[in-house]
Amino acid sequence: MITHCPHCSSTALDWPSTKQFTCRECGFVLFLNIAAAVGVIIECQGKLLFGVRKHEPQRGKLDLPGGFVDQGETAEQALQRELQEEIGLTIPAARYLYSFPNRYPYLGITYDTLDLIFLVQLVGFPPLQAGDDLAELLWLDRDSIDLEQIGFTSLRQAVQRYLTESGGLSSGKPLTSAGCRPF
Ligand SMILES: [Zn+2]
Repeated sequence: MITHCPHCSSTALDWPSTKQFTCRECGFVLFLNIAAAVGVIIECQGKLLFGVRKHEPQRGKLDLPGGFVDQGETAEQALQRELQEEIGLTIPAARYLYSFPNRYPYLGITYDTLDLIFLVQLVGFPPLQAGDDLAELLWLDRDSIDLEQIGFTSLRQAVQRYLTESGGLSSGKPLTSAGCRPF
């Protein structure tokens, strides 16, 4: 929570909405915009790739490769960079699927993000190298994924939707071609 004006240090702050504050002393206005992030579902031979988080938040939980989009970057560039940094993988292309909002608490501040989810489908298992933020990498069978072990709500929703719509959740109804939703 912000308690002081970053311009004049006054504590006379007004919050007309959760998205902005104004300083009654100097008139400073700050908009708290959401951050963009990317997450990628990587599928190969009926398995999905997950990382196990080494650090907070959600330490020890399953995660999808991805991360925040940097200034000046496209989502596609961020995805390529994060895949290289996190798992040592270079991919030719990824398909955008859908987005889910997320909250990312870090050192006392909660960042509201919009996670853009992409899909990469591989024919063969590539050599991978877990980056510094991941304890290990796991290829999990589509049928045996415990959604509760996925740390972030947005990524859990994304994986659940993907498994359901591509016919992989045992409780989900396999889609016919007529049931496929266009992206
Ligand atoms: Zn001020």
